[in-house]
Amino acid sequence: MSKSKLRLYNTLTRQLEDFQPQDPDHVKIYTCGPTVYNYQHIGNYTAYIYWDLLLRVLRTNGYNPERILNLTDVGHLASDADEGEDKLEKGARREGKTVWEIAEFYADDFLKNYHALNLLEPAKITRATDYITQGQQLVDKLSDLGYIYETTDGLYFDTSKFPSYADFAHLNLNQLQAGARVEFNHEKKHASDFAVWKFIQPDEDHAMQWEYRGHIGYPGWHLECSTIIHAELGEPIDIHTGGIDHIPVHHTNEIAQSEAAYGHKLANYWLHCNFITIDGEKISKSLGNVYTLQDLQDRSFSLMDFKMWVLQGHYQSERNFSFDDLAAAQQRRLNWRNRIALCRQTDVSSNMPNILDTLNDNLNSAATFALIDNSDLSLDDWHYIDELFGLGLIQDSPDITPDLMQLITQREQARAAKDYTKSDQLRDQLTTHNLTVKDTPDGPIWQYLH
Ligand code: AMP
Ligand code: ZN
Repeated sequence: MSKSKLRLYNTLTRQLEDFQPQDPDHVKIYTCGPTVYNYQHIGNYTAYIYWDLLLRVLRTNGYNPERILNLTDVGHLASDADEGEDKLEKGARREGKTVWEIAEFYADDFLKNYHALNLLEPAKITRATDYITQGQQLVDKLSDLGYIYETTDGLYFDTSKFPSYADFAHLNLNQLQAGARVEFNHEKKHASDFAVWKFIQPDEDHAMQWEYRGHIGYPGWHLECSTIIHAELGEPIDIHTGGIDHIPVHHTNEIAQSEAAYGHKLANYWLHCNFITIDGEKISKSLGNVYTLQDLQDRSFSLMDFKMWVLQGHYQSERNFSFDDLAAAQQRRLNWRNRIALCRQTDVSSNMPNILDTLNDNLNSAATFALIDNSDLSLDDWHYIDELFGLGLIQDSPDITPDLMQLITQREQARAAKDYTKSDQLRDQLTTHNLTVKDTPDGPIWQYLH
């Protein structure tokens, strides 16, 4: 099979580019992870499924990805503009727990689902609270270089001192300044300036706190990613991933901090996945559509059905989720599993298409799925597909046991003897084992019912 070059859409250049890592044996990747203050909804998990595909495609191309996945376990403010409520504090009040208990509980829940989704283990999972001192050192460095000023409520990065600030997100800073709400923080010099350290005010109830430069406070949200990338991977990394919501503020600010402090490009390739809507609506509490993975499982869908639904779309397209579409993805998965079942019973000749070539075209999993639908595939091919997508197809399509095979043979014998009562009883017995039998000119073929 010919091997094409992997091409990825790079937000930095707004172009499809041939991927060229610095060292193919250590492809450095960083993923901004979830804020662990509540159950993650299905939109949040789409991102981790797409980045898992990225890792698997890199691996199949012969690269060795080294990925850090970060968990934001320190509260950041509900709005990107350094105002609003701290998400972890809000979680703690909601449940009558400490912020530390909230962070631990929801980090565990996220990781449990992460593993249940059969996503590749990162080289390291970091937690923002383990990098407070290094974050303070980054602020020290930025202060020494003249990027930081102090206001009553914190230390801010002066974005006017970083001339390329607007470039990454193609921001219009004049418009941003004009549109800034006047009522908040008069001491900020520019609307785009952002907090690297917040001071806790005397009337403020904030449990997560650390002492820095004589002030009790906590880090600004963006600080953790710059800090962890520096500590664990070193700049520039090869690929930085996130959601499209990260482009104008969070990633823009990460770039400003890191590049101002360390004088290197932060990342060579930036990949962003799009958002999903549900039944055409934004995911929001008020619409009651904040579905978790558990909600899908409660409706008899497996996590692999959900993964199938995610991967049959493209990471850059805005996807709409509906339970009808999830049911269609479940059906497609059952169809694939029954094709594996057939491979276990007869020799299926292979006309395997070049799936990797299609995936190398900017991770086009949607087109790949259509190829899989329309090609004859052998058991070896299905093993390869499972490695590429992590769909657990082989594991979920086991061969049947000799006892069940015996039931199928007995049913055949009963049918031959025209003992239909017995053959129906045997069919019912097979049903309880999630099996059905199709009678074909070549004899009976067993299939999974669901
Ligand atoms: P949070 O835990 O709130 O920081 O969210 C983690 C990330 O999940 C966000 O920054 C987005 O990139 C992603 N995300 C949130 N909502 C959606 C959505 N509807 N579809 C896809 N991704 C989403
Ligand atoms: Zn980040």
